[in-house]
Amino acid sequence: MTSYADFYRQSIDQPDAFWAEQASLIEWHKPFDRVCNYDNPPFVKWYEGGQTNLCHNAVDRHLADRAGQAALIAVSSETGLEKTYTFQDLHGEVQRMAASLKALGVEQGDRVLIYMPMIAEAAFAMLACARIGAVHCVVFGGFASGSLASRIEDAAPKVIVSSDGGSRGGKALPYKPLLDEAIRLSSHKPSAVLLADRGLAAMELVAGRDHLWNELREQHFDAQVPCEWLDSTAISYTIYTSGTTGKPKGVQRDTAGYTVALAASMKHIFDGHAGETFFSTSDIGWVVGHSYIVYGPLIAGMATIMYEGLPTQGMDKKPNGGIWWELVEKYKVTVMFSAPTAVRVLKKQDPALLTKYDLSSLRALFLAGEPLDEPTARWISEGLNVPIIDNYWQTESGWPILTIANGVESKPSKFGSPGIPMYGYNVKLLHESTGEELTVPGEKGVVVIEGPTPPGFMQTIWQDDARFVNTYWKSIPGRLVYSTFDWGIRDADGYFFILGRTDDVINVAGHRLGTREIEESISGHSQVSEVAVVGVADGLKGQVAMAFAVLKDSSVLNDAAACARLEAEIMKRVDNDLGAVARPARVRFVTVLPKTRSGKLLRRAIQAVCEGRDAGDLTTMDDPAALQQIRDRVETV
Ligand code: AMP
Repeated sequence: MTSYADFYRQSIDQPDAFWAEQASLIEWHKPFDRVCNYDNPPFVKWYEGGQTNLCHNAVDRHLADRAGQAALIAVSSETGLEKTYTFQDLHGEVQRMAASLKALGVEQGDRVLIYMPMIAEAAFAMLACARIGAVHCVVFGGFASGSLASRIEDAAPKVIVSSDGGSRGGKALPYKPLLDEAIRLSSHKPSAVLLADRGLAAMELVAGRDHLWNELREQHFDAQVPCEWLDSTAISYTIYTSGTTGKPKGVQRDTAGYTVALAASMKHIFDGHAGETFFSTSDIGWVVGHSYIVYGPLIAGMATIMYEGLPTQGMDKKPNGGIWWELVEKYKVTVMFSAPTAVRVLKKQDPALLTKYDLSSLRALFLAGEPLDEPTARWISEGLNVPIIDNYWQTESGWPILTIANGVESKPSKFGSPGIPMYGYNVKLLHESTGEELTVPGEKGVVVIEGPTPPGFMQTIWQDDARFVNTYWKSIPGRLVYSTFDWGIRDADGYFFILGRTDDVINVAGHRLGTREIEESISGHSQVSEVAVVGVADGLKGQVAMAFAVLKDSSVLNDAAACARLEAEIMKRVDNDLGAVARPARVRFVTVLPKTRSGKLLRRAIQAVCEGRDAGDLTTMDDPAALQQIRDRVETV
């Protein structure tokens, strides 16, 4: 057996040989001429000259050996629906969806925006796009009109695929009115909207624009739509993520590199095998959903569970904190993927639920998206009696950057550490301002990746190469390195520990949110003149957003009832603009915000005060009383 150290070294020292070998994990229509083209850093082209297709590797490829095996298991504890699609069934549904999209005018390279709940049709739509070479842009169903509109504007989709609604905790959440409003707000208008009607919410169809999936599906029931053979570097999808400005970034991925990266990660990291079942509790709106609900498990020939619902509600819609474990038992799940927040929710349930079901099929639980605290890791590890594997990555990377690769060599995990650099990632710690490499264990620096970034990593920001280079590759003076914008330290064994973001991005229940986006929404309120939003540590969600607003009329501050009313109005505004995920936990009103003399908001000082920490060096602060106001407001919460 190869040692992981050798495996890793080869990936960094001989990337061409290493990735040429990994490329044999997928099927190619045409072999590639060149493995890695890094002639124009930081842009990388993987597998130039080759042709393949993501959908072929996820679906068609398996028809020969496993057509009758489960591929997609759609389970909803919201509607009670539970349905298994074999690879054969999935092949049929994806072709029906592909034919429907083509009938609506979608051609290779066109964008298709997908705004859907966790239903099988969402996966059909993603795979159908990959099949015909259209670029999908999945937008999280929990986002509201404002967020959706900015994504429609940027992606300029020809078609939008959506649904009448989602459901949460038994309550229907209509999507269509939000979608109609978003299309109204956007200057780009899609030429067609394809809607899956689940019978959850009434829909008003726009004549000539809106079409029902059920009807198109019938029309194209026997459609045969072969996979388009795409150049390796053809764009497979974009996914929007938050950064330090209000404008979301469209993270863009290729076709071949991503397919190879996922196939390799399923083997080396997740150690999942064809014929088994993978269960990721994420959402298709996030990168984990793209890589490890839809594509990764299917590429590996595994069945994947797509679960709509809370972790605490059973199929009979009654409270059941054991629903996930019930599914693990029923579908003999071998590999599971979730987020620390979800485990913290389960921690409040009866621990007996972890032993009530037969979980003997389960080999490992992977957790990602936010720091995994030691008590949570210990609780779930002891309860399930399987390894808990923390893994650190980003929307930008598409697959884990730091974890352990048990498929290559078993290594122990360390509580509090996501692990060591994965093959292909030349991870370093650099001094924030000097750019000097930090090699002494325990020194704190910015976690960066030296190019070429591995297959599967983002190619660029959709239609904005300059923003890609300036945002990610120019933040450390004098060095062209990719910044993760995370602080980290490394111990003497090479294990990394992630210490939080270096920028204004916050992480609420594993959801990445830009504080600027929330600030922009709040500043739109007619009575607000200025606002600062910070992320504050929270026992359940990791972080929550706290907003401090300056009002145009400061006399309102003396009227507690008026302040409470305004707080509710502001929260509602954020709900409507961005969605409930972005809603601040509290909105507090002050007369002035802490700023430097040059006018820069001191978010880190505000955050420190909210968390009861020392606010640090305040010599550059304009008005020290401003921070006292924050302190007073927090104490009166
Ligand atoms: P996203 O792009 O939404 O996946 O968010 C990526 C960010 O989440 C990273 O830059 C980290 O700040 C944080 N993150 C993801 N996984 C972990 C982890 N395992 N441990 C600590 N932080 C994490």
